[in-house]
Amino acid sequence: MFKYRIAYGCWLNDSRKLPITDEDWPSIRIDEDTLDSLEETMAFLEKAGYNCFDVFGLITNHSWEDDIVSTVSPERVQKVRQVIDIVHSHGLKLIYGLGVYSWGFDGIIGRNAAVRGTNPQAMCASAPESEAIMRRVIDYVGETFDVDGFHLEAADQGRCECEKCRRFATDIDYYNDINTRTARYIRGKWPEKLLLVNTSGYLRWGDTFDAAQLAQIRQLSREIDIFIDVGSHGVFVRPEDRRGLTADFGASFGTSNGFWIYPPQRWDRTRWLIPHMYQNHDMLSRLWKDGGTCCELYLSPLNNPGAEITFLCNGLLLQDPDSSADDNLNRAVEMLYAPVDTAQRDRIAGIFGDAEKLFFDCWHPQRDRALPETLSDGVEHVFAWSEVHPELAQPGEFFLERLFGIGPGFPCYLTLHFDVDGRARYREGMRTLLARAEAARAAQPCECLDRLASCIENVLKDIDAADAAMA
Ligand SMILES: [Zn+2]
Repeated sequence: MFKYRIAYGCWLNDSRKLPITDEDWPSIRIDEDTLDSLEETMAFLEKAGYNCFDVFGLITNHSWEDDIVSTVSPERVQKVRQVIDIVHSHGLKLIYGLGVYSWGFDGIIGRNAAVRGTNPQAMCASAPESEAIMRRVIDYVGETFDVDGFHLEAADQGRCECEKCRRFATDIDYYNDINTRTARYIRGKWPEKLLLVNTSGYLRWGDTFDAAQLAQIRQLSREIDIFIDVGSHGVFVRPEDRRGLTADFGASFGTSNGFWIYPPQRWDRTRWLIPHMYQNHDMLSRLWKDGGTCCELYLSPLNNPGAEITFLCNGLLLQDPDSSADDNLNRAVEMLYAPVDTAQRDRIAGIFGDAEKLFFDCWHPQRDRALPETLSDGVEHVFAWSEVHPELAQPGEFFLERLFGIGPGFPCYLTLHFDVDGRARYREGMRTLLARAEAARAAQPCECLDRLASCIENVLKDIDAADAAMA
């Protein structure tokens, strides 16, 4: 089985069962709903065979104060400890999302010239004071909280380009250097803690590692436990290079899902239905055959039936990488829906399988870049790299509403990735699925089939809204 079966938060409230509509993403609120939701989610992950939970936003999404410690109130410390207890009570390891020289240092960089280079979001890697501050953060987190590991995030906010930092021949040298220094410091203090690096920011999206870069990645692998080629907009390790890389690699190598829904923070949880277990099965089976032994799968609110079935099917596959997608789906339906007979099981499994097929038959993976801002996802700038080759800009991560904003957003996925004909076919297919969901509900009434039917009804409403907006 896969060694590290990681559910990726990726932010604290991304998997929350109730939406947060009045706060911009990423909300790091910890209230009763957050805790209740985490309790249910962690119980589910345990049942589904995951063994780690990697999460950002536990302590802060804002700037660290200069002394680090006073950033976090005593109340917050208590709440964070409650969260970690919940994770541990279900046998999962907690991997803490740690910004390395970036993420959370904007305030310190603004106030302290000694760490300031050319990037207002990333401390200068050549300043001794930067390293001292980084260590203070690690000391605080490791000594205050019972975390089992660190996700080192060094590269996705860019780097310092000052005179001194030009000594690094390449960006990868730069990121490897600060990751390695940080990893060694943590190892020195707590040899047992897991260390994870993902590739976000290591290259421009759309690029892939060449032979020299693969050698650099191999060097970093000796310093850490887990290396994730995240693939938000395509993976960096070419398929033909992967087997060779894993054959001589210091860390466990893995990817994310291949395709995933980025959870819409402000939406009702029954507003979409995009199961993607067959797509993920294909991606993760290939990873396993290439020598991958870990993966980091993006969590979603599991009271969305499509997210729930996908996460369970993936968990079953990770425990038995030779299992078939059909068998896993049948088993997942049995675990979640307790069908009265085989006919009912097949009915429900068929709805999920066909819902996935329907979505991928009707969308277009390439973005519609001519859309007005109001009908798009608000992250067009992230795709600037693909101006020359727009066909490369495919999810990866898939946004349903605009990532940023207040209040439930417009269903931009139905305009950005569907044309008028695709929406018509999606509507037709969804109507058929609704009739089938109602038949399943008539055969065996249950709350989870009610939720499934609600999802389909809500998608139909959103298709109408998208058509109206495009008319
Ligand atoms: Zn510098």
